[in-house]
Amino acid sequence: MPIYAYHCPHCDDDFELLVRSTTVVACPQCGGTELSKLVSLTAPQMKSPGIIKRARARAAREGHLSNFSAAERGKVG
Ligand SMILES: [Zn+2]
Repeated sequence: MPIYAYHCPHCDDDFELLVRSTTVVACPQCGGTELSKLVSLTAPQMKSPGIIKRARARAAREGHLSNFSAAERGKVG
């Protein structure tokens, strides 16, 4: 699954999503679907838990906690 970065013009948020072919991409903040696709991260295939963990750590560092569930935010915070 590729991971793509998007920008939401509604709430001015940037975020990354794993996108499957069937995924409808929506902003995790406002649910908007009119998103600008940013440079796709030519990430290696997200098979490794370590890679996912690193990506999440980076998201956390950058304040993209919207990528996390409430329970996960507790761990990250
Ligand atoms: Zn939004």
